Amino acid sequence: MPEAIATTKRKFYKALESLNNPPATRPSEPAAKRVRRSISTTSTASRTAPTTKAPNTEDAVFRKPPNFSPWSHETFLARLKTYSNVSLWYPKPEAISEVEWAKRGWVCVGVSTVACKGGCEKRVVVSLDLERSSAADVEGGGTDEANCGADEGLDAENESLLETALVARYQSLIVDGHSATCPWRQAGCKDDIHHLQVVRPPIWQPELKNRYHSLRGLDGAIRDVNMTTLPHDSASCLPPEKMLMDLPAEVLGENDQTSKDAARALEVALHGWRGSHDSGNDLLQCDACFQRIGLWMYQPGYRQSHARSGESEDDDSATLDLLELHRDHCPWRNSETQKASGTLSGLNASQILHRVVSTYAREQRRKSDELQKPAQQGGVEEQDEEADLEAPLSPAPSREEVEKQDKERESKLKRLKSLFSIKRRPAARSAVIAKSH
Ligand SMILES: [Zn+2]
Ligand SMILES: [Zn+2]
Repeated sequence: MPEAIATTKRKFYKALESLNNPPATRPSEPAAKRVRRSISTTSTASRTAPTTKAPNTEDAVFRKPPNFSPWSHETFLARLKTYSNVSLWYPKPEAISEVEWAKRGWVCVGVSTVACKGGCEKRVVVSLDLERSSAADVEGGGTDEANCGADEGLDAENESLLETALVARYQSLIVDGHSATCPWRQAGCKDDIHHLQVVRPPIWQPELKNRYHSLRGLDGAIRDVNMTTLPHDSASCLPPEKMLMDLPAEVLGENDQTSKDAARALEVALHGWRGSHDSGNDLLQCDACFQRIGLWMYQPGYRQSHARSGESEDDDSATLDLLELHRDHCPWRNSETQKASGTLSGLNASQILHRVVSTYAREQRRKSDELQKPAQQGGVEEQDEEADLEAPLSPAPSREEVEKQDKERESKLKRLKSLFSIKRRPAARSAVIAKSH
C-alpha cells in the first residue's frame, strides 16, 4: 500500500483510539451507556471524514432499539449508512459486501474496519489488499489473530486463489468475528431485511410526496438532464405526465400538475431518489443505499475533462441512469434484495412503485369519472340499460303524470330486475318515493 495511505490510516486509528477507546470493553457497563458511547463514536468518526454529514436522525435511530435488533429495518439501514463513506469503505465481493456485515450487526468505524459497536465491541479489518502482510485482523478481547497475508509478487492465478480464500475467511468472520457471547454471533438479520415497503398507500404516499417536493426544489438542476428511466410502455407503468393528471392533488400536494418540471420530479422520485443541497451543490440521494449523485456532472454543457474517446462530439452531457446509479445491492434497483412476493416477485422497488402508482392513478381517475357522471345524467347502469326511463325526467311533469310515470317506472324496474337481476341503488329508490309526494 502506498505510504501516504498507510500513514493516513495510522493517524486515523490513532485518532480514533484516543477519541473513542477508553479501554475497549467494559463488560459490567449497562447497555444503555455503551449504546450512548457508540453514538458519539459514530458522529465523531463522520466528523473526521469530510464527505459524510452527521445527521441527527442517526442518534435517534440508535437510541431507541437495543443494539441487538436483527428484526429492525431502521437499525439495519443506520448500520449500512456507515459504509457509505467512500474514503472508508470501498466495494467488496458480494459475499462480504457491506450489506452482509450490516446484517450481522457490524458498522464501519474506520478505513476498511468494522466493529460491533454497542455489542461485543470486536473489530475486524476487512482488506483484500494482497500486498498486506496481515490482511485480516480481529482486534479486541483476545480472539485469535487471523493472518491471511500474502507474499509479494503473486501471479494472476495465485492472486485469484488467494482472493477466494480471503473472501471465504472474511465470510466466516462476519459471524465468528463476534465474541462467543455476542448475540450477533447467534443470529443476524433475515435475508429480506432490505425490502422496501412500497405497496401500501399509507407508506408510499407520504414518502413519494416528500421525495417529490425535495426534487421540486431542484427543478433547475434536473430540467435539462438526459435521463434513463424504466420503460413506460404499458398500462402498469404509466408515464409520469399521465400519473400527474390522474392522481388526486392531495397525494403529491401539488396544484401545478401539468408542468414538465413536475413530471421530471415525479419520475426521479419514482426511482427512489430525493433531492438535497450540500455546500451549494444539488444532489440526488437514496435513503436505501445512501448513494449520492452530484447533478452538476449531468448538465448539458458540462464537459468532463476526462471525456471518453468513444463518445460522439455532440453528446456533451452524461446520461443520468435513474436505476443503475443506485448501488448494486439497492432494492430500488435489485429485485434480489427487494424480495417481493406474489405477483410482484422478481421486480425491484422502482418497478413495483411505478406499478402501484399507475394502478392507483387509474383507479382514482375512474372513481372521479364515476362520481361526475351520476351528477350529470344519472347512474351509469341506468343510462345503459334503462335509457328510456330517464327521458321523462327532463320536462317538468304534472303531479298526475309523475305518479303515473313512477308506477310505470316501478313495474318496468321490476321486470328489468327479474330479467337482468339489476341491483338498484338505495339512493335512486328514495328519489322515486320522494317524487311521488
Ligand atoms: Zn458482537
Ligand atoms: Zn439506492
